[in-house]
Amino acid sequence: MSDDCIFCRIIKGEIPCSKVYEDKEILAFKDIHPQAPVHFLIIPKKHIATLADATLEDVPVLGRMLELAPRIAREQGASEGFRTIINTGRHGGQEVYHLHLHVLGGQPMPALLKY
Ligand code: AMP
Ligand code: ZN
Repeated sequence: MSDDCIFCRIIKGEIPCSKVYEDKEILAFKDIHPQAPVHFLIIPKKHIATLADATLEDVPVLGRMLELAPRIAREQGASEGFRTIINTGRHGGQEVYHLHLHVLGGQPMPALLKY
């Protein structure tokens, strides 16, 4: 946990979120600035700053995040597919430095990786 990390603060309940899934290791909530009709984030409860900081120890939780994506996407109404994105670091366009998997759907996504 990191006191100055907004997503850690969401996990601790200090900042509200629109939760779509939670278990011991993982939280998923709607993106505050949705870029598609369905747009939520899946995050590990462990503070991992970026994908580049993940280690072998984090492989199980990363796998579970991927396995959850289609399940939650379907529940949220993305019945025709979805896009997953992990922005990493400055060149990756990462704004929040707590690893998160974007899941976007509910409409055809543009061909370019612009969202
Ligand atoms: P990234 O550019 O990949 O780091 O994406 C960060 C995402 O977090 C953006 O899509 C933001 O809209 C989203 N975001 C930032 N603050 C919050 C918040 N308090 N609740 C939900 N989503 C947030
Ligand atoms: Zn954090």
